[in-house]
Amino acid sequence: MIQVAINGYGTIGKRVADAVQQQPDMEVLGVAKTRPNFEAETAIDKGFALYAAIEERADQFAEAGLEIAGPVEDLIDDADIVVDATPSGIGAENKTLYEEYETPALYQGGEDADLADTSFNARSNYEDATGADHVRVVSCNTTGLSRVIAPLREAYGVEKVRATLVRRGGDPGQTNRGPINDILPNPVTIPSHHGPDVETIFDDLDIDTLGMKVPATLMHMHSLNVTLEEEVDADEVRELFAEESRLFLIPERMDIDGSGKLKEYAMDAGRPRADIWENCIWEESISTVGSDLYLFQGIHQESDVVPENIDAIRAVLGEADAEASIETTNETLGIGL
Ligand code: NAD
Repeated sequence: MIQVAINGYGTIGKRVADAVQQQPDMEVLGVAKTRPNFEAETAIDKGFALYAAIEERADQFAEAGLEIAGPVEDLIDDADIVVDATPSGIGAENKTLYEEYETPALYQGGEDADLADTSFNARSNYEDATGADHVRVVSCNTTGLSRVIAPLREAYGVEKVRATLVRRGGDPGQTNRGPINDILPNPVTIPSHHGPDVETIFDDLDIDTLGMKVPATLMHMHSLNVTLEEEVDADEVRELFAEESRLFLIPERMDIDGSGKLKEYAMDAGRPRADIWENCIWEESISTVGSDLYLFQGIHQESDVVPENIDAIRAVLGEADAEASIETTNETLGIGL
């Protein structure tokens, strides 16, 4: 069994921990947190060994009645791999810790690409991570874009991607985020940083992205225009996407008109935390005009990177090829709405 350490047990870390526990070939060795809170309490309730990420604050856990297994250094030393799911920029600070104990590390999309040996998306460049010591699982938006671009490149060739990302202001638990009643060009400079991030997965791709932030917490929404290298019928693209396990084509009959109903559907379907690991593409929106393809897709920012982290663990350790890993991850999590 691959022993996985999770450093940073928040929105992404707690989901990755649960997903690791569901895999037949890996288990959570422990999770590290900086301070006691409800997530620390549920980690203990789930049976995860809890480690103190900051030694000076270890007493706070005891004061809150939470048993600590040791300092984060012990966890990193004993683990086969660490998933760093700390806030943006902290992963970079933690890199020396992982190097000191020679533990391979996965970082998240909030870190700079040059922190890692490679950026990672299972569908697009799984093999690049094999044997790497430092791998960055790209952000929720970049994951969502890469999953669509990879099959289009293979089937038709892609001349140019233009994407407008309507981004949620914050996650449901982020009471300090906004806007509350506004629509922000964000970043206001064009193109946004998302395009170059997608180019860390496809280095020869021509892509421009624009970003906005809106008062929403449930999901991001992408408006996508891809100029293909040939003229393609929209039905053909629908068939191509239907073959992709992490693309959910929302059928017209479901009457899902936005991210609210998508999340409601995820709850009704019994998804943990109402997570939606798949890109949600409105089937009716898939349209072509000559060689231009258009579509709308919803991206659940809190969860689409979770299966990617699981696949990255296997990729780094050379435990399975892309197809086998993706299949195991999909089956165990129940991916495929
Ligand atoms: P979060 O704030 O929900 O969770 C981070 C956790 O790390 C918190 O529990 C925090 O207390 C803990 N932490 C802080 N400093 C630490 C340290 N030094 N050592 C150990 N733990 C520490 O953040 P998140 O949303 O889970 O984001 C984590 C990473 O994932 C970021 O790089 C982010 O950009 C990326 N990401 C986030 C989302 C999203 O929508 N939330 C989506 C994709 C990628």
